[in-house]
Amino acid sequence: MTDKSEQQAKKVVERCQKLASFSEEPGCTTRTFLSPPMRDCHREIAGWLAFLGTQVRIDAAGNLRALYPAATSGAKRLLIGSHLDTVPNAGAYDGILGVVLAVSLLEALSGRKLPFEIEIIGFSEEEGVRFGTPYIGSRALIGRLDEELLEHKDANGICVRRAIEEFGLKPSEISDAQVSDNALAYLEFHIEQGPVLDQLGRPLGVVEGIAGQSRLEITYIGRANHAGTTPMNLRHDAIAAAAEWITTVEQEANGTSGLVATVGRIQARPGATNVIAGEARLSLDVRHRSDDVRTRAVETLLRKAEQIAERRGMIVRCSMQLDQKAVAMNPFLVRQAGEAIQRAGCEPHTIVSGAGHDAMILAEKVPAAMIFLRTPGGISHSPAESVEIGDVAKAIESGLYLLDLLASSPMPQRGT
Ligand SMILES: [Zn+2]
Repeated sequence: MTDKSEQQAKKVVERCQKLASFSEEPGCTTRTFLSPPMRDCHREIAGWLAFLGTQVRIDAAGNLRALYPAATSGAKRLLIGSHLDTVPNAGAYDGILGVVLAVSLLEALSGRKLPFEIEIIGFSEEEGVRFGTPYIGSRALIGRLDEELLEHKDANGICVRRAIEEFGLKPSEISDAQVSDNALAYLEFHIEQGPVLDQLGRPLGVVEGIAGQSRLEITYIGRANHAGTTPMNLRHDAIAAAAEWITTVEQEANGTSGLVATVGRIQARPGATNVIAGEARLSLDVRHRSDDVRTRAVETLLRKAEQIAERRGMIVRCSMQLDQKAVAMNPFLVRQAGEAIQRAGCEPHTIVSGAGHDAMILAEKVPAAMIFLRTPGGISHSPAESVEIGDVAKAIESGLYLLDLLASSPMPQRGT
């Protein structure tokens, strides 16, 4: 790490911490879609960009957009961004770091212009906290912030449309937020939010794809009865059936390479100490890089759920709530990002992201790639989230090499 990149990295970390102070709740960082502190966040970032010859605007979906011109007119446009919203009681780096790093790359160019424009995007919404629907910001860029989504309501009964109006923006102008026809590619720096790079001792990773995801609700229906008078062999205990199935889910994921499966929520009815549960409702979350493997795993788990129910004389119901396909990053950009990381003196680790990101949405319209930064301890979505200064410096160096590689290479094509 050079002295210069270390200084830049320290500045990046200070800026992330400054943005973390813009919060809806005192003493912690919570910043949801178009909340008042988002305005402070925009003002702060616009202040940094003011000296870089960029045009800054907030589009109608509340995304911060800053355009840095190319060396020549009529050039293509490289998009670099991440999200500015947070989960409740968040850390300072998830999403934010990607936007702050993009600003730092522009600063490091010191006025040098490239053969493409650079547009920095700070997405307004990725976490899905306020409206229960994620990616509102990036959906606007690919033309999928539609009428239905505009009617989604938050906990106070305010719909997305009204939230946009109350922030001083015009829902009628949402179509103007779409990516321009000259978009070349989308790059996103993001913390890994997992333990893989940390365990390998590698500062940076290249994301080759984002795992597909299935979300289901499983309900075991047994028979509620007296916990004292019903002999064990005459019970139809919904919680016991659910427990048996939960361990099956764990075994299935343990036995399938790359598969992660989670039962994160269980609700029992009637939910009393002295009553055998008549109903147990569970969530299931299954993810894998291969849609085939994921789909087969879900089928197996549902079949086993039925076998357990049958043996115990119960009914099990399943409803699919999300079936999101895996998204590949652009192979050309993945190779270029790997080479840039190597030039910065790091061995890139190729990784599949288990978490969804804005890049997954953008990839529908634009060749996309992501670079992950090691997350110390794998801790994220927590105030304890952190980054290493040296890793941030390597990310800046890699980013600059990547800009140079893209400047001197043919344009990426979708799927090549
Ligand atoms: Zn994030």
